Amino acid sequence: MSQNILSWHRNIFDNISRQYADKRLPHAILLSQKMSECSFLLAKSIAQLLECSNPQSNENGILEACNECLSCKKVSEYNHLDIHYYFPIIKRKNKNCSDDYFQEWTDFLQQNHGIIEINSWIKFIDTANSQAIISAEDCDRIVNIAQESSYEGKYKIFIIWEMEKLFHAAAPKLLKIIEEPPANTLFIGITDNLDKVLDTIKSRMQIIHLPAPSPEESVATLTELFNIENADAQKLVFTYGNNLPRIVDDLHKDTIPILINDFFIKWMRLAFQMKAYDLLDLATEFNSYGRDIQKMMLLQCSQYLDAIWLVNHNIPTSLILNELDEKFVQDFKKFIADDTIPDITKIIDEAIKNIERNGDSKLIFFDISLKIGQIFKKKYFLIKG
Ligand SMILES: [Zn+2]
Repeated sequence: MSQNILSWHRNIFDNISRQYADKRLPHAILLSQKMSECSFLLAKSIAQLLECSNPQSNENGILEACNECLSCKKVSEYNHLDIHYYFPIIKRKNKNCSDDYFQEWTDFLQQNHGIIEINSWIKFIDTANSQAIISAEDCDRIVNIAQESSYEGKYKIFIIWEMEKLFHAAAPKLLKIIEEPPANTLFIGITDNLDKVLDTIKSRMQIIHLPAPSPEESVATLTELFNIENADAQKLVFTYGNNLPRIVDDLHKDTIPILINDFFIKWMRLAFQMKAYDLLDLATEFNSYGRDIQKMMLLQCSQYLDAIWLVNHNIPTSLILNELDEKFVQDFKKFIADDTIPDITKIIDEAIKNIERNGDSKLIFFDISLKIGQIFKKKYFLIKG
């Protein structure tokens, strides 16, 4: 039985497997992804290989986990004692570190087959307006556990999911242990936002950029892992712009998902028409989502604008635009001039920062909507004049 490696992870996995076989594995790697790359599953595959009691060469001479030994079983059930998971949490009275959320974490992983993203995790543990962090307590635990010996005598592995959410004041505690860990220790960090990972941490880890799956690979993953008919999987991949974690998250819900593409189109239309009352309603809707979701929505909207700018310059960009209605893009791109995008992006970035500072999201959103409307108006009159 061979190990299950997602096809778009194959090259990276094979490289790491070779390094492992040659005993030149780095002690800290940072998997950088945008959203749909499913890095967590790659981290898990690497951990499984390192803990497997009976790894075997595949037909290409690459070492893989056996998928049958006790260690492999424990890894797949998330209860291997030498694999330690750290992830963003919402601090509560009796919960201040990842271990306190371990039951929720494994339920979440099992429900989603390891295809996870931060916003669905936050919704899973908290429906209120909270921001999640990897806590200072977790940083202390990482340092302590790294200094103890491993339970099963093989590798000790720390999987740190969403490293950009590391509580900044506590991060310096980790520097020394990441730079010079004890033997047979591997840190695997995962981030959706490499720019937001502290430079001091980044410089101590080997950064690996993950490729995104092709739409066909996403369809295959959905049919294999979730027993979805091929035609249905194709429809989902198209509707969600090939974003696997978002598809998987919505598979479990009865409620209507927030379709950010629809939200974006509605927002831009109302802003262009400067419909203040409707924009106020939209601001109320925006305010009903958690802060992390609000930030994600704004970020995604800003990416749509970038993509439309590219289309305007005849630079191909498929992935994001698959999500947007073509007629809308054709009508809308006329109002996207070279100077429009930086102006709007600046406004959106500022709004994200204000939301992070716990500003009033409804007011922030309403305010930027009017500002964006004014930018469009200026451009529109220039064209007409
Ligand atoms: Zn095994």
